[in-house]
Formats: sequence, structure tokens, C-alpha cells
Amino acid sequence: MKIDFRSDTVTKPTAAMLEAMMQAEVGDDVFGEDPSINLLESMVAERFGMQAAIYCPSGTMSNQIAIRCHTQPGDEVICASNAHVYIYEGGGIASNSGSQVRAIDGDNGRINASQVETSINPDDVHKARTSLVCLENTSNRGGGACYDLEEIKKIRKVCTDYNLQLHLDGARLFNAIVAKKEDPKQYGAIFDSISICLNKGLGCPIGSVLIGNKDFIKKARRIRKVFGGGMRQAGFMAAAGVYALQNHIDRLAQDHAHAKQIEAALAKKDFVASILPVETNIVIATTKDGFPAKQIAEKLLPKGIQVMAIAEQQLRFVLHLDISTAMVEETITQISKL
Ligand SMILES: *Cc1c(COP(=O)(O)O)cnc(C)c1O
Repeated sequence: MKIDFRSDTVTKPTAAMLEAMMQAEVGDDVFGEDPSINLLESMVAERFGMQAAIYCPSGTMSNQIAIRCHTQPGDEVICASNAHVYIYEGGGIASNSGSQVRAIDGDNGRINASQVETSINPDDVHKARTSLVCLENTSNRGGGACYDLEEIKKIRKVCTDYNLQLHLDGARLFNAIVAKKEDPKQYGAIFDSISICLNKGLGCPIGSVLIGNKDFIKKARRIRKVFGGGMRQAGFMAAAGVYALQNHIDRLAQDHAHAKQIEAALAKKDFVASILPVETNIVIATTKDGFPAKQIAEKLLPKGIQVMAIAEQQLRFVLHLDISTAMVEETITQISKL
């Protein structure tokens, strides 16, 4: 048995998803003529109660398009210091948008409204113009932590008061929505733009959807072309997204339950110093001194279990579609033997 906890990006399409892809009607999407992409975009926009959507090859591209649309060169973007847009997108905010970052240390990746407000630059020629706030829900480096919707509403108010745009990196937003029993429309009502990944917990081979109002998406379509993300008959891939939206959302609760089981097994181990609160499908354990995370990962490898050492003393397990209950049980047995 090969059990791969490195990331929720490692999933392979299920037989039923592949079948849906094979049946897809396609056309040239740069001409706006791919029915499967048009369907996916309208489904996502509708589900979030937003006006329009655009299908993108990756979550990195959809975040970067949004940031480019919302900023001017020389602007400042407020986000958490461990935000994907800042630390995992190759310096894209600087190179794609000519903007810089005001990084805030959050609570497991969550920043709050007063932190945002005190980080806004005054209208002063010495200062960069603050124009955008990016939140991440769930927070990847925060161990899958979810925002409290009430705090997001407070951040929205600050953004409105100071005329800032508000973008959500919702790579795993459906994990948060399922875990907290929320309605996607609650998010659509708050944010100026939201990026949703289809290639994470939803199990698609590739793809992200960026949503916003009509003018924003019109602008995003131009930027997507500039970034080289205008695709042709990509409806085969979009059909996987349509299938995932119909079939792979509710099951995320299973991944969350599995994550809790892994957490409980790790909590019993002497080499574990602490575990970030498990709210969704990610488990990040900090090891004690003398127990490098890499060493523990290497001990699990011959048992067919792959985990990621994301720092010297941090071990990450990510639950997903291709991890069954039997695999979780096997992993718990192997953890107990460590
Ligand atoms: C994975 C991820 C993305 C986008 O990743 P791609 O691999 O480019 O699709 C963006 N934000 C977060 C928080 C992620 O985990």
C-alpha cells in the first residue's frame, strides 16, 4: 500500500471523473466557446453569488491575476507573513505586479482587522500606497486553520473605510466551508475576488477558478492572456471541475475526520512537542529537539507512507481523496510503532 500524505495535490482523477472528462463538450476558450468551461465558470460564480468567473490553469496564476488587477506598480499588499501569495509564488507580487508586501504575523495564518488597520500606510509621498488585502482560508502554513467569518467581516469594513480591495486565496475554501458549515454566498458577499483551487481536496488534475464582479473578470481575462494562461479546448479539464463540484465537496468532511485520527495518534508520541489545532485536512506536528522531522519521515517511508518535513522540526500530513479509512488505520498502526 502506498500512502501519500505529502499534499492534497497528489490525487489522481477517479474513474467517474475521467468518464466525465471524456464526455466533455469543448471549444476554443480564448474565443469564449468552450461549453464545459462556460458551465464551470457559471456554476462557481452562481454558487458564491458573484457575477462572473474565469478558469485558470493554477491557483498561483489566479491569485497573481487578482493581485495584478487590484494593484498598480509601487503599491503595497497586506497579507500574513506565511501567506502562499507571499512565500510560495516565486516573488510573483513583485515581478508580476511591481508591488511590495506588508507581511503580518497572524494567528496560524489568520490576520485580524486591527492588524490590517494599523498596517495601512498614511497618504504620504514617502509611503507605498496600500491598495489590497489578501486573506488565505484555510491557511496552508497555519495547519489548515479557518477564519472566523465575523473577523473577516471586520476586515471587510476596514477595507471599505480605507478604499482597499479584498482578495481571498481560497485554495482550500471548501474545506473551511464544510468544516464550519458555512454557505459559499457568505464569502461571495464579502470579497472583491476569490480564488478556488480544483486541484487540491477536490481531486482535479489541474485548475482554479477566480470569481468577482463582471468588470473585474473582464480585466482578469486580459491579464490571464498576458500571463499565458489563455487555453483552448481546456473543457476536458473543466469537466473534471464540474464533476468535483457536484461530487467531491461533502466528502471533505471525511478527510477532516481522518486528520483528527492522525492527530490523536501523533499526540501519543514522545517525539511530538505540539500539534497545530486540526480544523480541516492538514496536520502539522512540531517535533522535540533531537527528533528532526526528516528522520521521522524517513522511518515511515519504507512502510509505504510519505509525509513532508516542511521545516527542520515540522512534519505535515495532508488528507485527501486518495487516502482511504484503511490507509489511515495502517498509518496509525505505523505511527504507534515509531
Ligand atoms: C496550492 C495553493 C495555491 C495554488 O497552488 P497551485 O499549485 O498553483 O494551484 C494557492 N494558495 C494556497 C494556500 C495553496 O495551498
